[in-house]
Amino acid sequence: MADDGAVLALTRQLIARRSLTPDDAGCCALIADRLRALGFGIEYIDAGGVTNLWATLGDEGPLLILAGHTDVVPTGPREHWASDPFDPTVREGVLYGRGAADMKSGLAAMVCATERIVARRALRGTLAYLITSDEEGAARHGTRHAVAVLQSRGIRPDYAIVGEATASSQLGDRITIGRRGSLGCNLRVLGRQGHVAYPDKADNPVHRLAPALAELVAIRWDEGNDHFPPTSFQVSNVNAGTGANNVIPGHADVVFNFRYCTESSADGLKSRVTAILDRHGLRYEADWWHSGEPYLTAPGRLIDAAQSAVRETTGLTPTLFTGGGTSDGRFISPWGAEVVEIGPVNDSIHKVDEHVNVTDLPRLSAIYEGVIDRLL
Ligand SMILES: [Zn+2]
Repeated sequence: MADDGAVLALTRQLIARRSLTPDDAGCCALIADRLRALGFGIEYIDAGGVTNLWATLGDEGPLLILAGHTDVVPTGPREHWASDPFDPTVREGVLYGRGAADMKSGLAAMVCATERIVARRALRGTLAYLITSDEEGAARHGTRHAVAVLQSRGIRPDYAIVGEATASSQLGDRITIGRRGSLGCNLRVLGRQGHVAYPDKADNPVHRLAPALAELVAIRWDEGNDHFPPTSFQVSNVNAGTGANNVIPGHADVVFNFRYCTESSADGLKSRVTAILDRHGLRYEADWWHSGEPYLTAPGRLIDAAQSAVRETTGLTPTLFTGGGTSDGRFISPWGAEVVEIGPVNDSIHKVDEHVNVTDLPRLSAIYEGVIDRLL
């Protein structure tokens, strides 16, 4: 295992670039310089102020994509951090900084793994990087866009490794092989405002909404499957009322979200909700948002390679996880690739004092090297 501090050095350089989503802040250029020196062809598929780097080495054999993002979430107030979030700082063997775990260490570990493989002249097949600066934000002009462009050229990947932080309590204890889909709705139930003493002259939208909502909350949408828990429906906001205690409001607003598994589809869930609202005779406006289809990678060469490489480096057999939020794996999987997400411990991501263990950096890089070696 190469333990020359190379991954730490590159991670620090990336953290020092203030790449608040969707600003890349020069991270992709830094990575592109390193890859260009190895012989990679470099291309930018930018859109809407978002930086998307596409870099490839080789032009035959299986295509393996290393995927990730350079953007980070906001830090919150500086004084909540023990050290400046954009001034990478090591204290007692731990590297602190925004993006330390999500996911600048993953990117650095991938680049250093690639450098070692190229130095060994061990590459058989095509290795590519797909890196965006729009994963934490709207994610409209990021991986989604780049995949559409590459797909239209007839490019088809066999495998993808996303460097998101996936480990639970120690490096190698968990990798992600799928994610749930996310579907949400801002629902406004319409009524007619009036005096509570004259309900016949008004139409109370809260009373209309309540039985429909009770039905939605009670439904079991599916049974889940071996890899996913059942689809969950959660109400996050309910608002109605003028503030006066004697006024029937004119409308009632609800926000709800589905985290759904591969047994359900966005369209199917939408039409089931719509049927219930209609059956209850509601007048309403529904504003749906769909932030990602679920994906699941079936057992195969990639999962085998990932588990074996993790075991070789850490001695742990990683559990195969499908929970958590969405990731850009949702855009790469429908492109036809087997996708796994492998990265450092995720318990500090999006928090103050985000961090990664310094000793995990070369080990993560060795895991990536091991997976690439097994596939290409
Ligand atoms: Zn991330």
